[in-house]
Amino acid sequence: MAGLVAAARARELGADAVVYEKGDRAGGSMLLSSGVVWRHRSLAEFHADCPRGEPALQRVLVDELDPALDWLEELGAPVTERRTGNERTVGRRFDPRGLTDALVRAAGDVRLATPFSDAQLLATGGFGARLARDRGLLLRATPWSEGDGLAYALARGADLSGGMDEFYGRNLPAQVGDDLFVRASQLYGTHALVLDTEGREFFPGEPSWSETDLVQATARQPDAAAWYVVDQRALRRPVRERTVADLLDEARAVGGDVRPAEELPFALPASPKLREPPFLAVQVRAAVTHTIGGLRIDERARVLDAAGLTIEDVDWLVPHQANRRILDGVAKRLGIGEDRVLITVDRHANTSAASIPLALAEAAADGRLKPEQLLVLNAMGGGFTWGSALVRW
Ligand SMILES: Cc1cc2nc3c(=O)[nH]c(=O)nc-3n(C[C@H](O)[C@H](O)[C@H](O)COP(=O)(O)OP(=O)(O)OC[C@H]3O[C@@H](n4cnc5c(N)ncnc54)[C@H](O)[C@@H]3O)c2cc1C
Repeated sequence: MAGLVAAARARELGADAVVYEKGDRAGGSMLLSSGVVWRHRSLAEFHADCPRGEPALQRVLVDELDPALDWLEELGAPVTERRTGNERTVGRRFDPRGLTDALVRAAGDVRLATPFSDAQLLATGGFGARLARDRGLLLRATPWSEGDGLAYALARGADLSGGMDEFYGRNLPAQVGDDLFVRASQLYGTHALVLDTEGREFFPGEPSWSETDLVQATARQPDAAAWYVVDQRALRRPVRERTVADLLDEARAVGGDVRPAEELPFALPASPKLREPPFLAVQVRAAVTHTIGGLRIDERARVLDAAGLTIEDVDWLVPHQANRRILDGVAKRLGIGEDRVLITVDRHANTSAASIPLALAEAAADGRLKPEQLLVLNAMGGGFTWGSALVRW
């Protein structure tokens, strides 16, 4: 979704934009979602829910989401509800197909089944598919988000954000097709006695409202699996527009393991959650919707390095003066314009270890280098050794 949004906005501002899409359709995981685009009611509530989040980025979301949603509507994205159905959040529910179509129209040039090779803006949707495969979890998102954008930026010196081991997800009764990701999700851990496959309680206290903490705890259990055991009262509880009983029916319909609790391979522990028999048990497994951590960015979504700087902060690239073709290639891959590269190879040729000092001396003498400017020096030596340094002049 983010790539389409960026291209649509870039076109509106008069730029040419091309969206390279690895998948065979546009819309990414957003097309599979419930379409609720939301934020916390206030920065304080956002921070309380996500205390390790970056406050500056949280502020951007709280301050800027509402006009952004107006803009989506102006593009023709259909809103189906003006409330999120959750009193803690505000936002709008869009029809995901209509939202995708509106964005594709506005983005213009969208090339399907075309992984990017060089990019100015990375929007490849986290690395949920890779995480699910590596940890043996189910996947509740597109299969294409392997973290290609992350790898691309890391190879160019980007830094990582926090939360790299966290994910947002749901417990599912089985691996279902993408048309059932929302319907088949078993979102009633709060009403159930939650046990591991040996019959032990593993989640202390109540899950959070999104139940993502429970899903992440499930992911740490053997087989990333759990049993949800419910009594007759729980079956009548509402879960958004459905009931717990409806969700158990969905679990049965997709081939999940739903059975009377007396058929479990262990004895049930006593629990205040099990009062009104008969009790029913559903086996669930943790499924990844999206990863939380990623590239470290600033409030303008510019990728930062370990020093907290963006490539735009660099005044001069001072490369080892190998040859012009290599220098142009390095600058292009880093996204640094020719006017910010110190080049002396055309006058001194390749002077090996002296090439960076010579370039610095020349630029200092003619006034291009000024105090406090930020320089990236990069050099290559014998045996393909290499090194680089960020220098404040
Ligand atoms: C079932 C489900 C329900 C959800 N419900 C909600 C909800 O109600 N509310 C909410 O806020 N969020 C929800 N989400 C999460 C939300 O959809 C995602 O957080 C959001 O789509 C992320 O946007 P994105 O642009 O980062 O990633 P995506 O929308 O996934 O887009 C990333 C795109 O990059 C493409 N890509 C990957 N690698 C490459 C490459 N190498 N080259 C080119 N293209 C590449 C992918 O194919 C994909 O199209 C849900 C997700 C799912 C799956």
